[in-house]
Amino acid sequence: MLPQADIEGGAKSRIKIQNYIEGHWVSDPKEESVPLINPSTGEEIGEVPSSSVETSNLAVKAAADAFASWRATPLPKRMSYLFKLYSAMQENLEDLAQAIALDQAKHISEARGEVNRVIEIVQMSCSIPALLQGETIQGIATDINGRVIKAPLGVFCGVAPFNFPALVFGWFIPVAIGTGNTFVYKPSTESPLFMQKIMQLLEDIGLPAGVVNVVHGDREVVEAWYDNDDVVGVCLVGSTPTAKSIAEGCGRHAKKTMLLGGAKNFLVALEDAPMDLLIENILMSGYGSAGQRCLAVSNIAVVPEIHDEFVERLLAASKNITLGDARDPNVFMGPVISANAKHRIEEYIGLGIEGGATLELDGRNPSLPEANREGYYVGPTIFTDVTPCMRIAQEEIFGPVLSIMKVRSLDGALKLIKDHPLGNGACIFSQNNYQIEKFISLADVGMVGVNVGICAPHPYLPFGGIKGSLVGNNKVQGKDTIDFFTQNKVATVRSVDPVDPVVPKAVTQDDVRSCVAS
Ligand code: NAD
Repeated sequence: MLPQADIEGGAKSRIKIQNYIEGHWVSDPKEESVPLINPSTGEEIGEVPSSSVETSNLAVKAAADAFASWRATPLPKRMSYLFKLYSAMQENLEDLAQAIALDQAKHISEARGEVNRVIEIVQMSCSIPALLQGETIQGIATDINGRVIKAPLGVFCGVAPFNFPALVFGWFIPVAIGTGNTFVYKPSTESPLFMQKIMQLLEDIGLPAGVVNVVHGDREVVEAWYDNDDVVGVCLVGSTPTAKSIAEGCGRHAKKTMLLGGAKNFLVALEDAPMDLLIENILMSGYGSAGQRCLAVSNIAVVPEIHDEFVERLLAASKNITLGDARDPNVFMGPVISANAKHRIEEYIGLGIEGGATLELDGRNPSLPEANREGYYVGPTIFTDVTPCMRIAQEEIFGPVLSIMKVRSLDGALKLIKDHPLGNGACIFSQNNYQIEKFISLADVGMVGVNVGICAPHPYLPFGGIKGSLVGNNKVQGKDTIDFFTQNKVATVRSVDPVDPVVPKAVTQDDVRSCVAS
């Protein structure tokens, strides 16, 4: 049991994040750490271990040792842990959400939404027995039947980005362990507190030691998995360069991968877009989580008929956005994750100006409550006259910066989407069914939305992009994840009568010749 002071992070106590291996809270022998910061205030609130390769390997060994008995655990028993996790997460929802609002500085209402979504994923994972059913085909030869078994594979490892500490846990771990695998997980060092609390809950519900292990640290922890023979697969949600780097490392050692990368999402507004709904959705999609969402709108393609009215309305609404501590329910927007992220976003604002775009609203130096002046805030930022080749239109900014482009028609918008190297999501606002169906069919992305600002599908459906937004093939959620964490093992089974065994006649050359002749 983790000492309370280590997980609470009250005004005076420092948060000490720890690794969790084989059912124990363990420190790394290297004893190196990085500071844990509250981005809302810039205050150092604790420390996160920078674990060594040895600790990473120790966690894999714990997961490998636990695999044999975990895979043999009857399905109802395995599911009972997921049911207990479901209840434990519901009972601790507020505590889990506050953890996310503290170290990741996600606005408290969105943090609650994230935890609720994970609870839905755990609920969906409780249906794994139905999804794990294999297939049988009778009589593939005399007395021989064929069978497909969805079998677990062994130890999977997962890596999380800073911006969805709960959701990414939900995407990987309930399904991985529900299907009979064991797991090693590396959270982001910028938002580790949620996982600390989840591991406490998993310990409290009695999950057997070694089934889920957590190692904090940087890329060395991950790179140690590539040539570790006990690791069968690695999954990541992160930026595209990280996804490519893991794909290379795993590719060299023939490991399975499920790697979700970066995003640059388009929103297309046609002449009949419902304007109130459009503005309201852009505020949530573009500025929610301070623009640090893989489905946040970033590029907005607008037809000339509504361009000027749209810009005027969006500017007026954006100027009313309030900034402050992510745990304050009365503000709209919290900070970005770090001083580096703030600096990078501000550099992009400079690049937009240099590139010739018109800066209509500048989010640098926003007005802030006194207590938050040292936090990492960037306010809503809007560029117009953006052209597709500008860096602000091409590159992932991952902040509350919107780039507005004029397009003549839906075809022009579809071309912009097609030409972009990333393809996570895209949304359209229109009431014209023909244009909507054309968009659904032709938008070159993995997820589309119609009259919604964020096209995040429900846990029953797959989540993931295409092009540079997904390295490899597997998406998360739904049946796609079940496929990733299992193999379709084939059994060819001959029945032999124990009383009167019939010895099958060997096939002779004459049999073959007679077959060919007939
Ligand atoms: P990141 O790529 O910097 O880091 C992600 C994780 O990978 C972290 O845990 C980090 O420690 C680790 N890491 C970094 N470099 C590594 C390397 N070379 N080898 C192995 N591990 C490495 O991403 P981030 O800044 O934490 O998160 C933001 C990014 O994640 C954005 O690009 C965003 O679009 C993306 N994201 C994508 C989705 C999606 O569904 N496609 C969802 C959330 C976030």
